[in-house]
This record gives sequence, C-alpha cells and structure tokens, in this order.
Amino acid sequence: MPSEKAPGRSMKEQAQHWMTPVLDLLFPPRCIVCKQPGADICSTCLQTFMPVPEPVCEVCSEPVSTPGLCDRCRQNRPAFFRVYSAYCYEGAVQQAVQALKYRRRKSLSKPLALSLAEQVPLPAAENALIAAVPMHVDRQTQRGYNHAALLAVELSKRWGIPLLSSHALRRTVNTKTQVGLKYTDRVENVKGAFYADSHEVTDHTILLIDDVCTTGATLDAIARILLTAGAEAVIGITLARTI
Ligand SMILES: [Zn+2]
Ligand SMILES: [Zn+2]
Repeated sequence: MPSEKAPGRSMKEQAQHWMTPVLDLLFPPRCIVCKQPGADICSTCLQTFMPVPEPVCEVCSEPVSTPGLCDRCRQNRPAFFRVYSAYCYEGAVQQAVQALKYRRRKSLSKPLALSLAEQVPLPAAENALIAAVPMHVDRQTQRGYNHAALLAVELSKRWGIPLLSSHALRRTVNTKTQVGLKYTDRVENVKGAFYADSHEVTDHTILLIDDVCTTGATLDAIARILLTAGAEAVIGITLARTI
C-alpha cells in the first residue's frame, strides 16, 4: 500500500513531531540568539531585527541612493512585479534563519513569519495564492523539510490566503547552492530549474516566499516559469535581504 506520509517525513521525523510538546515541557525552548529559556526567539531579540533601510529599488528591494529603480532592474527588468524584504540579513535575523534552515529549529517559522508580516503589509492582489521557493526533492528528503515552505504555511494562516499545492511548483533540477556565486552565475545556475502547473497557477497572483533574497535571481527564474504557465503576476516576499 502506498505510504501517505509527506515526502521526507521519516519515522524519526514523525517521532520528533509527537515528542516535541513533551520535550518542550521538560526542556523549554531557549532563544536561539540570547539563550534565555521560554521561546525559540524572545521578543527582545525579535526587536533587534533591522528593517531594510529606505529608499529601496521599487522592483527588487535593493537599497538605492535615490528612489526609483536600481541599475540592474533598469537595464534588465525582472519577471516578478516586485519583491518585499522585511529585514537586513545580519545579526539576530541571520542567526534565526540559519537555525531554521540548518539546525532543525522548525518552530522558528511561526515567530519569523509573524515578524515578517508585521513589517511587510499584505500586498493588494486579487486571486492570490501563497507559494514557497521549492527545494529539489532530493535535497528536501535529505533535510527533511523546506524551510521556505514552513514560512509560507505560517504566512498563509496569518494572511488568510490559500497555499498553492506543493506539486504545482517544483524544482526539477537539483541546482548547486547560490551561496558565493556572482549574479550572472546565479542566473545561469537556476535557469530551467523549475516547473509550474498551468492548471493551478493560471490567473492567480503568486506570493512567492523565501527566507533570504540576495540578487533576486532565483525569484526571477521562478517568476518567469509562473508567468509562462499563466500566472497573473508574481510578488516575492522574503524575511530578509542581503545588504
Ligand atoms: Zn533572545
Ligand atoms: Zn532593483
């Protein structure tokens, strides 16, 4: 009989799922930044998150010296309508993202998503659906979860906007990490790496969620695929942005 468990949800994962509330009672979570017991990230540390300084590029949200578009967007307009990034990727935000991503602190997704939603107002869009930047199935099985999808689930609840089904937007090529690549290599690295199901995305505005935006190359590549598949528009929303 086919298993109905989610991809990558191993027995160990399921055991952790049931054990977490018990473990939280015995060993209350500690703030990943200041180590105080009580929460995955405490309110004091959340308040140190630094919003991206204005003015930012009206398309990709990169800080610019004068309001308008940055040089890159002026020369080569990305496919997404625009990107909203809440905070600078540094300090406590960076520690939180790395813990969510690499240290299995999945419960950080809720306070981080709520913090994002405080900083970035829900974009006005009709027929909106929320989607996460997809991870290749091999990498997701290895890690056990997609951290961007955890943020997307929390934002969907917070904003009351439905999620796009996970099979409708996929990463079909297991691309190497974008970390350390320059812009042109990033664009090349993610070219043709995604698939979108036109039945699911046609006429919808897709709010595309990721943890960090660096150059916007990944969001741009996915936006192109979504628009080709019939999406009305794509708006990127990320917790943080490299500055
Ligand atoms: Zn703290
Ligand atoms: Zn720009």
